[in-house]
Amino acid sequence: MSSADFASLGLSAPVLKAVKQLGYEQPSPVQEASIPIILEGKNLLGTAQTGTGKTAAFALPFLSMLDEKQKAPQILVLTPTRELAIQVAEAFQSYAKHIKGFHVLPIYGGADIGGQLRGLKRGTQVVVGTPGRMLDHLRRRSLDLSQVKGLILDEADEMLRMGFIDDVETILSKTPADCQRALFSATMPPAIKRVADKYLGDAEVVSIEAKTKTVERIEQSYLMVKGHQKMDALTRILDVEQFDGMIIFVRTKSATLEIAEKLEARGFSSSALNGDLTQTLRERTINRLKKGQVDIVVATDVAARGLDVERISHVINYDIPYDNESYVHRIGRTGRAGREGKAILFITQKENRMLRSIEKSTRQAISQFNLPSNEEVSGQRVAQFKEQLIGMCKSTKLDKFNSLVKEVAAENEIDMAVLAAALAFEVQKERPLFPKLATLDAPRASSNDRSSDRKERKRPERGDRSERSERSDRPDRGERTQRERPTREKSGPADQDGNEIPMITYRIEVGRNDDVSPKNIVGAIANEADIDAQFIGHIKLHDDHSTVDLPEGMPKELFDHLYKVRVCQKALKISVDNGTAGEQRDAKPGYKGKQEGKKGSGREDRRDRSAPARKKPAFKGKSSGDSEPRKPRKRPATDRK
Ligand code: AMP
Repeated sequence: MSSADFASLGLSAPVLKAVKQLGYEQPSPVQEASIPIILEGKNLLGTAQTGTGKTAAFALPFLSMLDEKQKAPQILVLTPTRELAIQVAEAFQSYAKHIKGFHVLPIYGGADIGGQLRGLKRGTQVVVGTPGRMLDHLRRRSLDLSQVKGLILDEADEMLRMGFIDDVETILSKTPADCQRALFSATMPPAIKRVADKYLGDAEVVSIEAKTKTVERIEQSYLMVKGHQKMDALTRILDVEQFDGMIIFVRTKSATLEIAEKLEARGFSSSALNGDLTQTLRERTINRLKKGQVDIVVATDVAARGLDVERISHVINYDIPYDNESYVHRIGRTGRAGREGKAILFITQKENRMLRSIEKSTRQAISQFNLPSNEEVSGQRVAQFKEQLIGMCKSTKLDKFNSLVKEVAAENEIDMAVLAAALAFEVQKERPLFPKLATLDAPRASSNDRSSDRKERKRPERGDRSERSERSDRPDRGERTQRERPTREKSGPADQDGNEIPMITYRIEVGRNDDVSPKNIVGAIANEADIDAQFIGHIKLHDDHSTVDLPEGMPKELFDHLYKVRVCQKALKISVDNGTAGEQRDAKPGYKGKQEGKKGSGREDRRDRSAPARKKPAFKGKSSGDSEPRKPRKRPATDRK
């Protein structure tokens, strides 16, 4: 953990105020190291992944140096995906809450360009966007980079992987030579180092080294969960886990209060422990935990430092710690005095790398936590309810209530059992006895995410696409051959369960004659259509068209949208490649279903270029339902390159 506080880092007053209001107690290690460097005006090369607090590490210092009056873009952030662009723009907005006249604009593919044009015209100090759309705005001359003072490349290795590195370089070359630059990347492959050497010069390097620590006697597991489902997952765990004392770690002071309150409302005795509490209050809370007057404490790292309570049987990392060291410190709050302890780590999909890095540094595998089922939760709750009810019948004076229910029953001719059932129903509303718990549909990581991790690790070929295509000595320059494809991709990449995804070959009306390269195609499809780059398969360039393998079962809205997407100034006009289409099987989740639902043109037109039908809707978003049924022919093996 870091030792500095935000106030000592030299951030501007309005930025500090926002950080305080957000409940950030202490800078994370990457923030502590990066903020002073950026504030000194130096370039920065940071190895940091999602979950380390890297967004604030660059946003806070650059915002502290912002010239509020200047309306032309001053800070430019390049991100690989639209999700990240939105997330980063939102982070900027929250950190700039007290900066008057502040504007941030996310620009990414797949969204209405009109709104972006208006936003740029109105004036915005910060632009966050994906490389393709930024280039588009540069071509239209709607994005003025002449006043840019700070440029940040976020998740640079992802941009490389998605084939954006040339676009990134083009944008970099158009920013003023004296503009300050920061590059953040989870890994530093040679292509990223090369860009850093060329554009960041002698940048200061920030890399938070992971020290190896061993943790014994602590059973560790993790649960992949989406941010908004964490509370649901937590209550389910609390319902079935046999625990004595528990610490739940969160990142902010406000979260300690919010979660402790929510737990109280659900009937779990809990208290918040954060740096805002006086030493006396903190000690009082810890004593109550020691004595068993409270079972759950929701804490920040700062407040729980050195906490030594033997009865802590469980540590829940509700928010992932910033680094491996604080993970080890956190879980060390359990397994005290030779006892056994359990540690459960919540991770979101994007924080997957952190899990791997924790495993590596602790030299221990962390197993997947199996979330209790509806039935298990229900069974526990019903058993507790019965116990409570019986206890109450025995120990509470119920005379008046007895007469009351008899009266209601007699007056309304209601059976006593029905009346009791109605009362039971009323009582259990806060914590339902027969819950229909939401499917926590984040991928199950040990079988799937690990497989996708493995894929990611084995996947430099994908990232190297652009590097390879840069080599002019290759006769098939720019083509994505079998060798370049991800390891599993012969039939298609793997879905969350590790099954191969059946692919369909599509034809797009842009080819070598248009100077297109596979990375342009991957970038456009990934960003405009919000398809994960890993689901984009083999690409073959021809003179006047190209073919691309995409997962089967494409929703019609997405198909209609892709039809109009432009690459190298030409609409893709996507259609099923009739001669070489793959075998149609059950749909697999290759699409995220967040497409803008743009309508296609006429019905006949649609029939001509229709998406192949899918038998089973496998998409999270709206399903079109009316794809034209058209079964593509089985693709002969010889067609595969
Ligand atoms: P990032 O690694 O930038 O994706 O940040 C991950 C999460 O950590 C975000 O939800 C931030 O709001 C949160 N965060 C970043 N810095 C801090 C901090 N110093 N204290 C508490 N939360 C933070």
